[in-house]
Order: sequence, then C-alpha cells, then structure tokens
Amino acid sequence: MKPHPSTKIIHPEYVAPEGFSAFPMAVHRASTVLFENVAAMRSSNWLDKSIYTYGLHGTPTSRTLEARLAAIEEGEYCLLAPSGLSAISLVSLAFLKSGDDVLLPDNVYSPNRELAQWLVRDYGVSARFYDPMIGAGISELIQDNTRLIWAEAPGSVSMEVPDIPAICAAAHARGAIVALDNTWSAGIAFKPFSHGVDITMQALTKYQCGGSDVLMGSLVTRDIKLHERLETVRRLLGLGVSMDDVSLILRSLPSMPIRFAAHDNHARTIATWLSARPEIVKVLHPALSDCPGHENWARDFTGAGGLFSVIFDPKFTEAQTDRFIDSLSLFKIGYSWGGAHSLCLPYRMKTMRSNWAEQGQLVRFNIGLEDVADLISDIEQALAKMV
Ligand SMILES: *Cc1c(COP(=O)(O)O)cnc(C)c1O
Repeated sequence: MKPHPSTKIIHPEYVAPEGFSAFPMAVHRASTVLFENVAAMRSSNWLDKSIYTYGLHGTPTSRTLEARLAAIEEGEYCLLAPSGLSAISLVSLAFLKSGDDVLLPDNVYSPNRELAQWLVRDYGVSARFYDPMIGAGISELIQDNTRLIWAEAPGSVSMEVPDIPAICAAAHARGAIVALDNTWSAGIAFKPFSHGVDITMQALTKYQCGGSDVLMGSLVTRDIKLHERLETVRRLLGLGVSMDDVSLILRSLPSMPIRFAAHDNHARTIATWLSARPEIVKVLHPALSDCPGHENWARDFTGAGGLFSVIFDPKFTEAQTDRFIDSLSLFKIGYSWGGAHSLCLPYRMKTMRSNWAEQGQLVRFNIGLEDVADLISDIEQALAKMV
C-alpha cells in the first residue's frame, strides 16, 4: 500500500541514535561539518545531497524537511530559503539574465512585481504583466527571449484562478519554464507537477509553519538541472535557514493537512454567509462561482485555503470599510496568514493592477481556527458599525 502524503509526513525514514527512540528527530545545528579524511573532503561535491559538506548546504534536519516538502507537492528536489520572498527572488535571479523576458500575472504577489520592475530598471531584463485569466492566449505574448513565466494560483488579493495546464503547455511549446507560487493551496489542494509546472514555490511562513512565528520558503522541482541551478544561486547569495526554525516547521507539518481542511471548511462557511449579505456585491473565493477562474479551481483543485476577499457595495466609502475592519475584534489587522488567528486587511486595488474594473472597496479575510459562529458574529456586529 502506497501511503498518502499526510501519512508519509508523520512516518518519515528517520533513524534515531542507537538506544534512544522518540518521534522528533534531533535538531542538527552546524557550520563546520567533519570529513572522514582528506580524500573524502577532496572528492565531496556540495550539490550531492547524499553527503554533508557545510552547514549552509544542509544538515539532517533540513534535509528531512526538504524531503517531506517535496513529497507533499509530489516533486523530487527541494531547497529551503529564508523567506517566501527570497525563494521567489532565487527563481528570477537563477533564470533571468540581461536580454531575457519574463511574464508575470497582473495579480502576482506585489514584491514579485517590484522585483521584476527592478530587474528591468537595472539588469536589462524585460518584464510584462498578463491578464491572469488569459489561459492559452498567453502563447501570443511569448517571445523568443521569454525565459520564465510566473503563475500564481489563485493570484494575490483578487483571487483569480488561472488555467495552469494551458499556460504550461504554451510555455513549454516555446521553451520557457513555468514557476508557480502555490502558497494558497499549501501543495495539498493543488498538485503542480501533474498540471505541468516546472518549479513550485511555497511561503512556508503560512500553513507549513502554522504558528505565525517562522519565516521560510521552499522551491520544489522534478528536474535536477533546475534544482542545481537554484541551489547554485542560493549558495552564491549565501542564503541559509536556521535549523531551529526548520525544527519548528517539522513540528507543525504533521497537523498541516488537518489544519488546512479546517481553514477550508471555516472559510467556505464564512464566504457563503458573506455572499448573502446586502453589503457585499462579490465574494472572491475560488470555490464560489463569483470568483474569476472558479471553473479552473473546480477542475484542478481538491480543496481551498482560508484566504479570500470580498468586494463591498460601491455605496460604501473607504472610510466606511476601514471602520468595518477597525470594529472587528476577533479579526486582527496584519500581514501574512496561515496561522490560527483570523486577519482582515483592506487593499487599494487601483494602485495594484493595470486594469481594475470593480468599483467597490476590496477587503481580504484570512480565516483562522476560531469557532466559526464566533467569527460570523464578529463580522455581523462590525458590518452594523459601517452605516
Ligand atoms: C506570504 C506570501 C509570500 C511571501 O512569503 P514570506 O515568507 O512572507 O516572504 C509569497 N507569496 C504569497 C502568495 C504569499 O502569500
């Protein structure tokens, strides 16, 4: 019987030191790693993950996390980066050089948009932003120098779900690689490689950590050449992760599938409740039919995360929706998501998108693990404060 990934992350292939048996593995911290003899030192290759060469390139603790993350997303190779954003930057720095072109969705995670604009300004790269709902039409945008296509499923804040298989097919037909920011699905609800993705990125800061106390990122591939290129750039930038932070993620990972299912369940209940409210004109939750790309979600995903947005009736001003957020008591105001606590944030969409048609204010919810009825009462009392 082939175990389910959620079983595999609880039953890893870890051998405890002789005479000692416990579930957690030791936290191996090291800068210097010792070699048996000079010959072993001389013949060692830091890229060889069957051996250890230096703390920056991994210890048994980080290798264990890498193997489990690769298993969740059904990939082969994984590297860890000090934040989700550093994982994103590694991809663009590894695969873009002067003269190359990169395509990014218009709803891409904002710092990734800024990175692309910075590469354009100072590094001779060209970057263009595409409509996330473009699907197979992206082939018309791909040029001979288009090396990398970023995708995000769903996109940040406005939550459009792209047609990933169509984008990947168009990219591969022209020799471009596709990198996907797969953070929303945690790699649980969307399996990137069976949909054609080349590199998948996770902000482990979110569900993998689950405690709102660690920043980390990962990049998983099935292609050793892509992995080694990414590892080389990671090494040259000197990026490593703390083994104590890795151990915190190893501790949270076994409960991730169950936490994710609870976030999904709570978020769908609240999103459905909000869709019946007169103050709200649209609920941008991929599992609800109002969300652009809902049909792609229904075809390709097996679940949803706890993050979604709503559009208020245009009759409510920004001051009124700000008052709604300030009136919430269980929902706190802050960046990031994926932990046990519910969060709420406003976004000024016209400043973030090339073409933003919606007239009402957009507010994003991260649904945590509090009791759903309590969260709904909190939203209800805050809505009443708006008028
Ligand atoms: C949070 C987030 C990131 C960045 O992760 P950090 O660890 O905060 O740098 C990237 N992409 C998405 C979609 C995110 O939500």
